[in-house]
Amino acid sequence: MQDTDYVHGLLAFIEASPTAFHAVANMTERLQAEGFEALLEAQVWNVRTPGRYFVTRNDSSIIAFTLGADPAEHGFRMIGAHTDSPCLKVKPSPEIVNNSYLQLGVEVYGGALLNPWFDRDLSIAGRVSYLGNDDSVHNALINFEQPVAVIPSLAIHLDREANEQHSINKQQHLPPLLMKLPEDDKHKDGSPDFRDILLHLLKKQQPEASAKKVLDYELAFYDVQPPAVIGLRQDFIAAARLDNLLSCYTGMLALLKAEANCNCLLVCNDHEEVGSVSSSGAQGTFLKSVLQRQCITSESLARAVDRSMMISTDNAHGIHPNYADRHDENHGPVLNNGPVIKVNANQRYASSSETCAIFRNLCERADVPVQSFVIRTDMACGSTIGPLTASGIGVRTIDVGVPTFAMHSIRELAGRWDGFYLYRALREYLKWMAD
Ligand SMILES: [Zn+2]
Repeated sequence: MQDTDYVHGLLAFIEASPTAFHAVANMTERLQAEGFEALLEAQVWNVRTPGRYFVTRNDSSIIAFTLGADPAEHGFRMIGAHTDSPCLKVKPSPEIVNNSYLQLGVEVYGGALLNPWFDRDLSIAGRVSYLGNDDSVHNALINFEQPVAVIPSLAIHLDREANEQHSINKQQHLPPLLMKLPEDDKHKDGSPDFRDILLHLLKKQQPEASAKKVLDYELAFYDVQPPAVIGLRQDFIAAARLDNLLSCYTGMLALLKAEANCNCLLVCNDHEEVGSVSSSGAQGTFLKSVLQRQCITSESLARAVDRSMMISTDNAHGIHPNYADRHDENHGPVLNNGPVIKVNANQRYASSSETCAIFRNLCERADVPVQSFVIRTDMACGSTIGPLTASGIGVRTIDVGVPTFAMHSIRELAGRWDGFYLYRALREYLKWMAD
């Protein structure tokens, strides 16, 4: 694969995946097209039959794996990532009628950087749960696709301090604006019902669903501006959700290229941005359950885990030239200088000297540059799925990721080369077991 194919594919994947549900649907489609067989958790699995499989949970987390030799003897080469990104989610009773406008109430999902959400052309996507003509509940993904909303800034003339101190009241200042109501519809009773709007869209986008009534939904706003390669010499990728769809896509590509006879696994969990405590999150039972079903006894599971490794891939903070003092001067990753090993003595990252050494060696073999990140000693460190998986499963783990700017903004920035470097390092990792 060439790096241009990689970048083209990554940008298309991000654009087609405005929510975790869409990311999993797109990964499912790709895996199936490349011969991976769908498993359902409710079915009996014919364990230890060599092959390529995937299974999803809550439509928003996915585990894909190749199975070759006995896991108890050979373990799994695992890659982890997360499917979710900070965003604004639509509340259950969202309609707000205010000064002749229809707005939707939103909750902030995760640690979103909120300022960049203003003055963007926003659309809405996610999962709706509806009553079908058969009187049972079904789920479907929908996407308004068009820019249907906006959160306008307040003019500086009405907020003279805006450039010095601009604070956002999440309840009051964030509801996106959807439409100007007709003059005789100023009161809520006459305003459109959001579930009716959803039903109309669902019937249009998926007539075969035979939907009677939309009962509930998990929907998020997103920016319709497509991802782009930017910079005087095209050094950068600008896109929403680089954290962490870049890692999901890169891990998936590496797995697609894995040898058929080895045990390789990719887990992409939802809910990382809100602490991972959910049935589909990294603190849930999903990965453990899938591993258990490949190992008949608890002893073979323990043996498999001891022979396994996890590379947890989630983006790192590049050193920002305008804010260089926010980094330790010896640990300031630079965009396009390769993937970053994340280390934290207090185990906010799961990397150990052993897993770091393995990863450095893999990068050397793949001719990939590698960097390291440690948070400034006087600042608090973030975390990710690495430590949760390490503690939940007991597997040796490393946290790595590509350096980025503007993490958790509605438009993040990564180096044009780093994702492809990460892909090459992960390819080497999945080959490593076959040696
Ligand atoms: Zn992340």
